[in-house]
Amino acid sequence: MSDALINNVVHSIRKKLSAPAAASRSRRKRSISEPSLLWTPGQTLRISFVDPTEDDVKKAIFAAASEWLEYANLRFERVDDEDAAAEIRISTNGPEDASFSLLGTQSMQQEGASMLIGCPPGHDLFEHTVLHEFGHALGLHHEHQHPEADIPWDLEALRSLIRGILADEGVPDEEIEDKMEAELADNFLPMPQENLNVLPYDPESIMHYAVLQTHTQGDYETGLNLRLSEKDKQAARTLYPGK
Ligand SMILES: [Zn+2]
Repeated sequence: MSDALINNVVHSIRKKLSAPAAASRSRRKRSISEPSLLWTPGQTLRISFVDPTEDDVKKAIFAAASEWLEYANLRFERVDDEDAAAEIRISTNGPEDASFSLLGTQSMQQEGASMLIGCPPGHDLFEHTVLHEFGHALGLHHEHQHPEADIPWDLEALRSLIRGILADEGVPDEEIEDKMEAELADNFLPMPQENLNVLPYDPESIMHYAVLQTHTQGDYETGLNLRLSEKDKQAARTLYPGK
């Protein structure tokens, strides 16, 4: 089963260690959806690839992402590569097991790629990855961080997994400790409820990661969701009405 949470935390800490100035500009993700980060219903979002990507990969990403448009009143338009004005700027140049997207209109406040999709078409998790990252691009946050999620995380186990991976790569202990708590809060822990549009907690959401038993206290675990849930569809209709 995917250990996407740990992979993403480690990837994010590595990125901050290699580009601390750029990372400090980035805004912390903190909502199920924040009204201020949503696009305007009816808006066309331009999609541009920012590094060399085969055309069939672009088509596959576009096709998978377009499932959101059955529910959200938005349009996607593929534009030329490296179009800095595009609302969604995709890099495919990353590790298969780490992916990322800015939340909604955050992409207009930052330069460079707004989304990383390292998982290639044909991979078991390709569609999950595209739907999940485009959920972020539409302004949705992680469902496992829902204020009511109440997942019994084993934080000490998570800390030692993260420390172990980064220490093996030669990252000094104090740098790991310095970055780790913010990453845990950003990626695992429930978010405060204020300023959020929150629908009821949905463990079947595409925005909910698999939770491994080894990351929790007791025997709590959940599998990975591969399709949009009914609540994901409802969220898309609610946030972008008029379809
Ligand atoms: Zn995510």
